[in-house]
Amino acid sequence: MFETHGIVTRNDPLGPGAFWMELRAPEIAAAALPGQFTMVLCSDGPEPLTRRPFSIADVVEDRIALAYVVVGRGTTLLSRAAPGVRLPLLGPLGRPFDHRVPAGTHVMVAGGIGSAPFPLLARAIREADPGAGRLVLLGGRTRDHLFARERFLELGCEVREATEDGSLGHRGFVTDLLPDVLAEADVRLYACGPTPMFRALRGWLEASDAPCQVSVEPVMACGFGACYGCVVPVRDGEGFRYVKACEEGPTFEIRDLRVEDLPSH
Ligand SMILES: Cc1cc2nc3c(=O)[nH]c(=O)nc-3n(C[C@H](O)[C@H](O)[C@H](O)COP(=O)(O)OP(=O)(O)OC[C@H]3O[C@@H](n4cnc5c(N)ncnc54)[C@H](O)[C@@H]3O)c2cc1C
Repeated sequence: MFETHGIVTRNDPLGPGAFWMELRAPEIAAAALPGQFTMVLCSDGPEPLTRRPFSIADVVEDRIALAYVVVGRGTTLLSRAAPGVRLPLLGPLGRPFDHRVPAGTHVMVAGGIGSAPFPLLARAIREADPGAGRLVLLGGRTRDHLFARERFLELGCEVREATEDGSLGHRGFVTDLLPDVLAEADVRLYACGPTPMFRALRGWLEASDAPCQVSVEPVMACGFGACYGCVVPVRDGEGFRYVKACEEGPTFEIRDLRVEDLPSH
């Protein structure tokens, strides 16, 4: 983990209310693994006081990329950061996806800005398991909310879309695309998105033994285990216990999580 600064090199619209930011941060770029995140102080001014967590969406030479949506004060300030601005960073943090197990097809299931961790994962899978299929199931409200779709295509992934308004691909939720995928042999799933998507995913997996790692995004204040703000419930025998998502996650096998008790956002 490095406590460093990143120099913003680009911060461009990615879709409605969403941005793709790249920061020159050589130490973090060299160490980052897919599924890890970085804590970002969202402005070079006096506020906000605490850093915000973002998945490392991709690594391009000595730069890390973030894909984010504007939801509050921190992300509003982040969206205004122009190239050249220095932002304090901490990272890479958290447990990465375990993508090194060969599979017939690696399937990334993304709801909205939940696509953020997957460009780097798609790249890493291509290196680790070159013969395997890489399929992205991308869901969004409209075709404009299919964040980073072009990047997945550039990376050589197959992309299947689901939009709530039917403007591209299947009309409905991204999880509607799962039955066809789960009918195939030797699939390995990775998912990131809103809690209702995890609940639907968990339901489909009742009848499947396909492994499925999810990346959770609870509200998180420190990122390194000090504040206990990000605890999530994991199964423990017949009961459950809380673990810190920043240290034991943010990636978990979905069957280990109590998705029914995850915060709803
Ligand atoms: C490990 C991890 C990785 C993440 N990766 C990404 C990413 O790649 N792209 C991205 O856009 N977001 C990501 N998030 C969520 C992101 O950190 C929050 O959206 C951000 O911290 C909000 O900051 P803010 O100051 O703009 O909002 P605040 O002013 O802090 O909050 C505004 C509103 O957003 C809600 N909010 C706060 N945190 C979250 C959250 N974690 N999820 C949903 N709603 C939240 C608050 O409850 C409130 O309603 C990630 C979170 C975690 C824990």
